[in-house]
Amino acid sequence: QVPLKPGRSLMDWIRLTKSGKDLTGLKGRLVEVTEDELSKHNKKEDCWICIRGFVYNVTPYMEYHPGGEDELMRAAGTDGTDLFDQVHRWVNYESMLKECLVGRMAVKPIAASKANILMTLLFAGVLPEKKVLASSAKDLSPRIHNKILVILSKLLILSLVFKSSNYDWFQTDSLITIVIYTKQKDMNAELVTVDCQDKQLRGEIIMDDHSYLVEVDLECAVSEDVAVNIAEKVGKVEIILNKKDNIHWKRLGQPCEGHNTFIKRTDRGLFYRKCKLVSKTEVTHDTKLFCLMLPKGTHLRVPTGQHVYLKQVIAGTEVVKPYTPVLPFLPLDFQEPPHHDAVHIYLMIKIYSHGLFTQALDHLQIGDYISVSNPEGSFKKSQVQTSEDLLLLAGGTGFTPMVKLLNFALTEVSCLRTVKLIFFNKTEDDILWRNQLEQLALKDERFEVQFILSQPSKEWIGKQGKISSSLLSEFVKRSRRDSKVLICICGPAPFTEQGVQYLKDLGYSQEEIHAFTA
Ligand code: FAD
Ligand code: NAP
Repeated sequence: QVPLKPGRSLMDWIRLTKSGKDLTGLKGRLVEVTEDELSKHNKKEDCWICIRGFVYNVTPYMEYHPGGEDELMRAAGTDGTDLFDQVHRWVNYESMLKECLVGRMAVKPIAASKANILMTLLFAGVLPEKKVLASSAKDLSPRIHNKILVILSKLLILSLVFKSSNYDWFQTDSLITIVIYTKQKDMNAELVTVDCQDKQLRGEIIMDDHSYLVEVDLECAVSEDVAVNIAEKVGKVEIILNKKDNIHWKRLGQPCEGHNTFIKRTDRGLFYRKCKLVSKTEVTHDTKLFCLMLPKGTHLRVPTGQHVYLKQVIAGTEVVKPYTPVLPFLPLDFQEPPHHDAVHIYLMIKIYSHGLFTQALDHLQIGDYISVSNPEGSFKKSQVQTSEDLLLLAGGTGFTPMVKLLNFALTEVSCLRTVKLIFFNKTEDDILWRNQLEQLALKDERFEVQFILSQPSKEWIGKQGKISSSLLSEFVKRSRRDSKVLICICGPAPFTEQGVQYLKDLGYSQEEIHAFTA
C-alpha cells in the first residue's frame, strides 16, 4: 500500500463512480477493443487495462489505487489478468470499475466458445486430443490456435494427473451419496467445502494448488443437512444428501458451468455463502469478536493460517476484505482432544474510525447476514510439524493467524519444545487477549509471551520499542544451537517486511520464516 492523497479513499472513489461523471471518456458507449487499440492506451493520462476480456479505462482510478499508480501502470495497454490474479484476485474489480468499462476485447465469439467446448470435451475424455486440435484448427486464427495448443497441453497433463479421480453417485430411498476418489493420501475435512442450498450443490476439493469442483443443479429437492465423510488414507470423499421425498432420481441433476473440472486453485472464482451474525463481543476498546454462523447446508473449515474474504455492498459497490478466523478463546487445557466447532466462524476485527469496511461491519445487527468466501492462504501446517522452536511475531491484529497456530502447535505438535509469542502493540489497552495469553504461559511451560509497546504510558514497566534488529536478536533465539526453528510474522505490511529483513540479517533462512501477507 502507498499513502493516498486526502480525498482519494475507497469511499471517495465510490462517490465519484456514483456522480454520473463520464469516467471512460466514451459518453456511455461500449466499444470492441482490438489488441492494437489497447496497446495505444498505455500512458497515465490515457490508460486502458484488460481484465478477463473486459477493457477498463483506469486513468480516473489512478490516484485511488491503494497499491499506487506505478503498480497499475505495470499493466497499462495490456492484458493485466495474470498480474491482477497474482496481486489481488479477490478484489471485486467488476463492481469497483464498472463505470470505467470501455468494452470487450475483440475476439471472434464463435472461435472462443468453440474452443471452450472442445477443451471441455477433451478434459472430460469425450474427444481425443487429435480430434480437438483438428477441428479447432479449421476456424481459429493462428494466434488463438497457438494459445489453445498451449492450454490443451496443460489440460492434458492435468487430466492425466487426475485421470481416474472422478466422481460417482448412488442413491437409496432416502439418501444421495456423491463419491469423489481424489487418490490423495492426506485428504482431510479442511480440504473439502460443500454448499447445498435450494437444489444447488457445490462441492470443492483442494488438492495442493488445484481445485476439483462438483457443481450441479440437483434433480430433486434435498433437506438442508449435508454430511461429508472422508476416508483419509485412500482419499475418498463422500457428500451425503438427504432426499426430501423418497423418490427415485433418474440423474443427479443438471451440471453447472464449472462442474467436474480440475483446475488451478487461483483460476477458480471465489465462492461466497451468506452467514448470519450471531454475536459481537468486545475484545478491546476498538476490536471485536464477531461470531458468524454458517448456513445448515454448508461444510466449511478454515485451515490454520488461512483467511476468508468478507463481502459487503457499501454505497452500491461490492467491497471485499480478508480476515483470519480465530477460536472463540484460547483453550488452556491441552489434555482434552481439540474441539472442532464446525458451525461457527469467529473473527477478531479491529474497527477503524475511518475504515470503510469495518465501519460497515460494526453497523451490522445480530441476525444480519454477510457473505463469507472459501478459505485461502499459503500457510501449511507441515511447516510447524517438524519444528522444535516456534516463534510468533505479531503486530496488532496480526495476532489473528497466531491464535489457531498456537492452539495447533501446543495441541498437536509433539516435537515442539518452545513456543514464543512476541506481541507488538501501541499501548497496553491495545493488547488482544492479554489475560488469556498470560494464563496460557502459566499453564504450559513450553509457551512464553513477550509484550512490546511502541507508545507505552509512563506506568509500563515491560519492554518498549518498535520491531528492530536489536529487539529481535534479544527475543528470537533457538533453544539449542542447531534446533529446527519456524518464525511466523504478521502485522502491518511495513512491520512484516522489516521484520523479515531483520530476521534474514540475523541469519535465519527463507525456509525458517513464514510471513502472512494478503
Ligand atoms: P480502510 O478503509 O482500509 O482503512 C483502515 C485505516 O487505514 C483507516 O484509518 C484509513 O484511514 C487508513 N488507510 C487506508 N488506506 C490508506 C492509505 N492507502 N493511505 C493512508 N491511510 C490509509 N484485520 C482484522 O482486524 N482482523 C483480521 O483477522 C484480519 N485479517 C487479515 C488477513 C489478511 C490476509 C489481510 C491482508 C488483512 C487482514 N486484516 C485483518 C485487515 C483487513 O483486511 C482490513 O484491511 C481492515 O479491516 C481495514 O479495513 P477497512 O476497510 O475498515 O479500513
Ligand atoms: P497497529 O495497532 O497500528 O500496530 C501494531 C504495532 O505495529 C504497533 O506497535 C505499531 O507501532 C507497529 N507498527 C505499525 N506500523 C509499523 C511500521 N510501519 N513499522 C514498524 N512497526 C509498525 O496495527 P493494527 O491497526 O492492528 O494493524 C494490523 C495490521 O495487520 C493490518 O495492516 C492488517 O492488514 C494486518 N493483518 C494481516 C494479516 C495477514 O494475514 N496478512 C492478518 C491480520 C492482520 P507504531 O504504530 O507505534 O509505530
